[in-house]
Amino acid sequence: MKSLVAVWTEAKRASAQAAPYDVAVIGAGVFGSWTSHHLRSAGKRVIMIDAYGAASSRASSGGESRVIRCAYGVDEIYSRFAQKSLEQWKELGRRVNSALFQQAGVLHLGGKGDGNIAASAGVLAKLGIPHQKLNQAELMKRFPQFFLGDIDQAIFEPESGALMARRSVQMLVREMSQSGLELVLEPVLPPSANGRMDSVKTAGGRTISAGAFVFACGPWLPKMFPAELGQRIFPTRQEMFFFGLPAGERRFTVPAMPCWIDPNNLYGIPDLENRGMKIANDEHGPPIDPDSADRLIPKESLAAMRKRLGARFPAMKNAPLVESRVCQYENSANGDFLLDKHPSIDNVWLAGGGSGHGFKHGPAVGEYLAGRILGTQPPEPRFSFASKGTVQKRSVY
Ligand SMILES: Cc1cc2nc3c(=O)[nH]c(=O)nc-3n(C[C@H](O)[C@H](O)[C@H](O)COP(=O)(O)OP(=O)(O)OC[C@H]3O[C@@H](n4cnc5c(N)ncnc54)[C@H](O)[C@@H]3O)c2cc1C
Repeated sequence: MKSLVAVWTEAKRASAQAAPYDVAVIGAGVFGSWTSHHLRSAGKRVIMIDAYGAASSRASSGGESRVIRCAYGVDEIYSRFAQKSLEQWKELGRRVNSALFQQAGVLHLGGKGDGNIAASAGVLAKLGIPHQKLNQAELMKRFPQFFLGDIDQAIFEPESGALMARRSVQMLVREMSQSGLELVLEPVLPPSANGRMDSVKTAGGRTISAGAFVFACGPWLPKMFPAELGQRIFPTRQEMFFFGLPAGERRFTVPAMPCWIDPNNLYGIPDLENRGMKIANDEHGPPIDPDSADRLIPKESLAAMRKRLGARFPAMKNAPLVESRVCQYENSANGDFLLDKHPSIDNVWLAGGGSGHGFKHGPAVGEYLAGRILGTQPPEPRFSFASKGTVQKRSVY
């Protein structure tokens, strides 16, 4: 007769083999959520696990708003991803009956002879994406709230704009939960498998078995896979400022004010939902720990940003700070995404490297990764693990 221990061990093995889920997605940020959505749309049984909940204040996807634009200079692959994603964002907004996308337009400012403007215009024309080229005189007439200074030309994308980021991800996850998705709120422990993985363990002691695993852990990827990603994903501290508009002022709200991207590493989003005009520096900040970092803005940063704000928008030079946020980019070496199999665990997938521009692409990233997992999508070399360097040298913006 078998001992009780032997019976229990066999039962445990059998339950591990008959994994109740096809795919476990670890991370309910924008990449994990859209990957889950596309896997479920293909009929797969998916479970999601997140340490802090969907698009939490610690996550890169947890901000109020994100720019969605299609101009990417010569990097056509991202223009295509953005174009495809915008349709899916709009569709999500219609399904959940919420204004997740704000069609503010996006204005790309450029100096004299800025090659990026010409390259973007070429790609947008090729893809049939509406855009207008503006010279300095046209810019002054159309957007008088800007002080142009060194700005000589621009491209305006009238059909792009801003996404209500945190809300969009939380609504997508809620939509999936309402149709049966299980979301576990616990940290997953770093895996130690080689070859193939049957299950992950949570800090609370739960074992979750699945046929495949997607680690969409954003800035936590280096902690999850220190050997593979400790030197390949660089989380950096990024500060965002919301300045209050003068009372009754409408020049900095939609439709007068677009989202804008400045060649001097600055970008902004108009006042949305009366929260103030957002402005941020796009240069990479210092390293950050997404678990333990305090998220306060030092006085010096505020003073520096107020100066830059006043220089570009004279009417805002005395505007009060009404809100601020500290978030983190999760940069790959050059800004290309990482969407690939783990180099030594066959059924583990890595999704990250959003590098300060990933949010808008969530739907296309999810579709791409779901396709890779299902075997219907050919690999894109730029998203491969093998292409990820260990020295930061940004080339995708
Ligand atoms: C300041 C700022 C401005 C930006 N602006 C733009 C913009 O204008 N346009 C644009 O397109 N993009 C922008 N981005 C980039 C974009 O927001 C990110 O690339 C994107 O949100 C990354 O999403 P993610 O799903 O990879 O990561 P995250 O959103 O960070 O999600 C990762 C998730 O994994 C979970 N997790 C981690 N470890 C574990 C674990 N062990 N167990 C369980 N769960 C775990 C976390 O809790 C988290 O929810 C910006 C980013 C920042 C910070």
